[in-house]
Amino acid sequence: RLHNTILELKGNIRVFCRVRPHLSDEIDAKVVSFPTSTEALGRGIDLTQNGQKLSFTFDKVFMPDASQEDVFVEISQLVQSALDGYKVCIFAYGQTGSGKTYTMMGKPGPSDQKGLIPRSLEQVFEIRQILQAQGWKYEMQVSMLEIYNETIRDLLAPNRTGFDASRAEHAGKQYTIKHDANGNTHVSDLTIVDVRSSKEVSYLLERAAQSRSVGKTQMNEQSSRSHFVFTLRIMGYNESTEQQVQGVLNLIDLAGSERLSKSGSTGDRLKETQAINKSLSSLSDVIFALAKKEEHVPYRNSKLTYLLQPCLGGDSKTLMFVNVSPDPSSVGESLCSLRFAARVN
Ligand code: ADP
Ligand code: MG
Repeated sequence: RLHNTILELKGNIRVFCRVRPHLSDEIDAKVVSFPTSTEALGRGIDLTQNGQKLSFTFDKVFMPDASQEDVFVEISQLVQSALDGYKVCIFAYGQTGSGKTYTMMGKPGPSDQKGLIPRSLEQVFEIRQILQAQGWKYEMQVSMLEIYNETIRDLLAPNRTGFDASRAEHAGKQYTIKHDANGNTHVSDLTIVDVRSSKEVSYLLERAAQSRSVGKTQMNEQSSRSHFVFTLRIMGYNESTEQQVQGVLNLIDLAGSERLSKSGSTGDRLKETQAINKSLSSLSDVIFALAKKEEHVPYRNSKLTYLLQPCLGGDSKTLMFVNVSPDPSSVGESLCSLRFAARVN
């Protein structure tokens, strides 16, 4: 199968592109189009800039009419592998407004709008039930953090009311990242919650979202300027067979990839921009090195890649969504995103 060949070639790294539909106030200037040749069907995307058509190919391209369910079907296998003991990372990359949060979290309201995170959790807990009947016992733990300006913030910290790191609940917390010999990651002081149902996780997700949105009004749309990292740790043990598995599912809504003009930004804004650029380019460097099977993988160049080190490379599985807006005013940014991903691809 074609899919498996790609998987092997790239050491378990895949890249999916998703183009969001036009929003009501956008005009359809047809800057994004899809190849009609059967060979590239569902895998190609063309972008027209200044009358020039540029073509890109991915492991899969989701057209604007792809539903949340259509997308989930393509990743459910990957989610399940976390229950089999694999370490999995799924990223959403793209400029602000391209559909990252819609893809990962979805939109409140009807359940068909639910994104990958809630769907993945429902699936994990459903399959757990089946496996429990086969003698498996599971412990599951959730943590949620964001990385802003190369600083970790605990989104599940008790009484968290905002982003002010000087507040009591953050005082003296370093959130130091350590990896042990078994490939487990420990972040000091980070809140880790034992969960038994997808409902419990939904509640935690809501709490985390509140923590982020508080900051949004206080500090200049901070949620699009930080990386959101959702982590589910799965520890399974089968008493009759004495088998043991330890899987991790990381779902990451990355900071907006738009290039803010360096000349225009000063002070905090400049620092912010530099931090985002640094971490996104570090992520690209790591994934590129892994895809090319290079000996040296530069994990230590950013908090994000260092945090996720045990879950990137080795026999872990990585999927990158490149979210693209079809709006003509976004062509330049879309091109950057596609190029970023094409490098990985
Ligand atoms: P980002 O997180 O990349 O900044 P959002 O996920 O917030 O972008 O998406 C921007 C807007 O577009 C939101 O109003 C969102 O609901 C809408 N949107 C994004 N992707 C889709 C989609 N596939 N279908 C319908 N609406 C979408
Ligand atoms: Mg977002």
